[in-house]
Amino acid sequence: MDLKLYDTHARTLRPFQPLEPGKVGLYACGPTVYDYAHIGNLRTYLFGDTLRRVLELNGLAVHHVVNITDVGHLTSDGDTGEDKMEKGARRTGRSAWEIAAYYTAAFRADLARLGIREPALWARATDHIPEQIAFIDEIARRGYAYTTADGVYFDTGKLEDYGHLARLNSAGQRAGHRVELGEKRAPTDFALWKFSRTGERRQMEWDSPWGRGFPGWHIECSAMSRKYLGALFDIHIGGEDHIPVHHTNEIAQHQACHGHGPARYWLHGAFLQLDGGDKMSKSSGDFLRLATLEERGVDPLAYRYLALTAHYRSPLAFSWPALQAAQTALNRLRQAYHALPAGGAADPAWRAGMLGELNEDLNTPRALALAWELIKSPLEGSAKRATLDWLDGALGLGLENWRPAEVEVPEAVRELIAARQQARADERWKDADALRAAIAQAGFAVRDTAEGPVAEPLPA
Ligand code: AMP
Ligand code: ZN
Repeated sequence: MDLKLYDTHARTLRPFQPLEPGKVGLYACGPTVYDYAHIGNLRTYLFGDTLRRVLELNGLAVHHVVNITDVGHLTSDGDTGEDKMEKGARRTGRSAWEIAAYYTAAFRADLARLGIREPALWARATDHIPEQIAFIDEIARRGYAYTTADGVYFDTGKLEDYGHLARLNSAGQRAGHRVELGEKRAPTDFALWKFSRTGERRQMEWDSPWGRGFPGWHIECSAMSRKYLGALFDIHIGGEDHIPVHHTNEIAQHQACHGHGPARYWLHGAFLQLDGGDKMSKSSGDFLRLATLEERGVDPLAYRYLALTAHYRSPLAFSWPALQAAQTALNRLRQAYHALPAGGAADPAWRAGMLGELNEDLNTPRALALAWELIKSPLEGSAKRATLDWLDGALGLGLENWRPAEVEVPEAVRELIAARQQARADERWKDADALRAAIAQAGFAVRDTAEGPVAEPLPA
């Protein structure tokens, strides 16, 4: 296997070797379904989809599991604050269960519009409460947990290399990062189970050996990944914000029970940033959804194209002009592809070159650049098209299925076109030029074909 992936745990590029030949277990941390996904979240799922597609292009069968966090994700990483689901329920006036179902469906619709393939399995946290309780029980029986007035906590001081993934300092903290201690023994200790507050009636709560309450956020991924992929699986992915807390704690939970982390490779996607370099976050309330892009006339796949122009480990700055440029490039790529004849076979040399780039830690910007070089190359047309088809298996731009939109040409424009035809027939060239300019003013270009003039809308 020539695939190399950057493993955050080892902080280096490593050749990928699956545990079982020909198969890959892949776990991705999924959305917290208390609100719509913003396009930053979607960048992370585009990265996951690209990884999966490249693994498949290498002939591997990928078992892809994604969780849905519908309980236990608190508004603060320090285990204080409110459950995001209960907060979302209050905001919308609907039940936590209703908003979980609603935003899960909205999330899946976003994925479909971006050409992101559904995982083999969606694992919902609330469907796996017994598995989470069993996992916590194992941790507790091995002596890695203690109970406080508000919950059961993981004792991170018991693990020698706690925080290795994030290269946390010896106090287990990121420099300059303050965490509320409360009754916790160490700032990095984290909730495995939180008790419902006395007198409080939560919408989502369960009985447990320790008291009525709900699971902490990190235990769901440990319990569900183990259930579906085994105690050791190939690749675990997520956004880079998961490195210091969520994934660090998943590793700790696994180490307590198994003596090793859950995954052999850890990959993290860099954030999408807003114009000023701010990170786009769900909780800030001001975020761009895929629907916002569509309202402005942008094709969701243009956002996919934009994401492919940056390496997944590089931050990507979002701007409307960059998105517009991606839309224009995608349109050109589609037109170039559809101008090529079908029926050829992919060119082995080009294919090897493209796979070489993708296998270099998913270098999609280089693979895209090769697509453009291929189009300009002297290779025979049908071979170009077949090679692009093959590459699109990794890019996911849906080139083959694209059809130009049927545009309504307004009556006034049709009259201008007819007048221009007449002017040309009369060899009144100045008039014909003036009419072409008037047609452009109205937002259309005229292309003269063997079947007569064709009007095409000009880009906005
Ligand atoms: P959440 O729904 O908040 O749990 O986040 C879902 C996924 O989106 C996680 O893997 C996060 O790491 C990721 N994420 C959050 N914000 C961004 C962002 N601005 N850019 C890229 N990924 C993000
Ligand atoms: Zn997770």
